[in-house]
Amino acid sequence: MKAYVDHNICIGTGICVSIAPDVFELDDNMKSNVVNPEAATEALYREAAENCPTQAIFLQDDDGNQIYP
Ligand code: SF4
Repeated sequence: MKAYVDHNICIGTGICVSIAPDVFELDDNMKSNVVNPEAATEALYREAAENCPTQAIFLQDDDGNQIYP
């Protein structure tokens, strides 16, 4: 599974960083980025994506198919 954050949708709440601090990081513009995909598990990605209030975290399977949201 892969994840990326759409910066046009992210509002910088930091919730994803709280859930997975080793995986997500806020940049200077208060936008979240996946900085360490190796630290992510599928469950962690899902928890972060499902708790993002704006659904800015997109999940893809290994073939590049969008699986969330
Ligand atoms: S939870 Fe969503 S809106 Fe909040 S920082 Fe993460 S990606 Fe951005």
